[in-house]
Amino acid sequence: MTVRVTILGSTGSIGQSTLDVIARHPDRFSVYALSAHSRIDLLAKQAVGTGAAVVVLPDDAAAVRFRAVWPNGVAMPEIRVGPRALAETAADPGCDTVMAAIVGAAGLPGALAAARAGKRVLLANKEALVAAGSLFMAAVRDSGAELLPIDSEHNAIFQCLPHDGRASAPQGPAAGVRRLILTASGGPFRTRNWSDLHDVTPDQACAHPNWSMGRKISVDSATMLNKGLEVIEAHWLFAMPPERINVVIHPQSVVHSMVEYEDGSVVAQLGQPDMRTPIAYGLGFPDRIASGVGLLDLAAGARLDFETPDLGRFPCLALAFEALRAGQSSCIALNAANEIAVDAFLAGRLRYTAIARLIGDTLDWQAQQTASVIGSIDDVLELDRRARAFCRSIHFAP
Ligand code: NDP
Repeated sequence: MTVRVTILGSTGSIGQSTLDVIARHPDRFSVYALSAHSRIDLLAKQAVGTGAAVVVLPDDAAAVRFRAVWPNGVAMPEIRVGPRALAETAADPGCDTVMAAIVGAAGLPGALAAARAGKRVLLANKEALVAAGSLFMAAVRDSGAELLPIDSEHNAIFQCLPHDGRASAPQGPAAGVRRLILTASGGPFRTRNWSDLHDVTPDQACAHPNWSMGRKISVDSATMLNKGLEVIEAHWLFAMPPERINVVIHPQSVVHSMVEYEDGSVVAQLGQPDMRTPIAYGLGFPDRIASGVGLLDLAAGARLDFETPDLGRFPCLALAFEALRAGQSSCIALNAANEIAVDAFLAGRLRYTAIARLIGDTLDWQAQQTASVIGSIDDVLELDRRARAFCRSIHFAP
């Protein structure tokens, strides 16, 4: 009997890497469902190649396109349409493991549905934890779901922490741990001043020196807001207070993150910068399975440099720490503003350096709102909607 895997966001960078790992283990994994948003032709190819039973598409027009490109003579998968179908498919009894690899807050309902249904959740979508960390972790605890972080830093930390072969949500910081140390490459603009980055283009911002990723996370890596989102993610995943989560710049991206223990030991996880390693770890856990990633040859002259991030050079990282200290509502506002800003930047409608200004203004707006309890997914989505509306209103203001 194979483990039946659903991939939410199969056409993206993480989705494609997941399919690559699965294809190496046909005796171990089968694909149950796949989803896409705009790359419908690629989804059809993936569904033919894997024999997926279900595909999820954003709307009826996409379903028409999917049927049009589907090859004659091949049994067509069941087609489901719309965001609700995405969440239902994540909770579908037909699958055991769900890879949550949709980008942005759009990935939250599916990831949460998988957690509530008690699946093994391979969580790549960091925005789900940033926007709804307490709800998400409560769902994991209540349902007994297994949660395996796929973000390479959190996957590394998970590997460096003591555990008993289970991937349950922690009740508090692991015993004996002093600090979590997240490494950051510093992105393509590590050595440049923020004020000199006025005219950088989307392609320059997406040219990450070490990792090949989707465009949104690539821009987040350039601004280092990505590292800020990861600090918030680590806070929820490992029940660790913000002051015990550190960030160091490590330009080579060989050490993926570290755990510092009370006795002074620092345990690190090293490897090639290739997401198939954490994906294979999550799929196979607690077994180690082949990922297709090449060996790390430290004797071939690899350097390991580390430096403290300069918050003046990376204002978005400082804003993320500020949001985490301010609480859940500010984290929702931070994420919403960043998604609007990065979208606008990628579309050529916003300067790179305006990303931090838009996020900062939205956090200031949030700080002036009457405090509200975030007790449900609807509360999260409502605040997310209002923060986006505010952010758009200042971005498009004359
Ligand atoms: P990509 O942009 O490459 O892929 C995103 C996926 O989400 C695609 O399948 C896309 O469909 C789908 N999608 C986009 N918008 C929507 C929407 N509104 N509703 C439903 N589906 C949607 O992103 P990545 O694979 O790079 O990243 C995915 C997630 O993993 C992000 O949260 C990112 O932060 C995280 N992550 C990524 C890493 C990486 O190396 N790439 C590393 C660590 C974390 P389509 O392509 O058909 O439009």
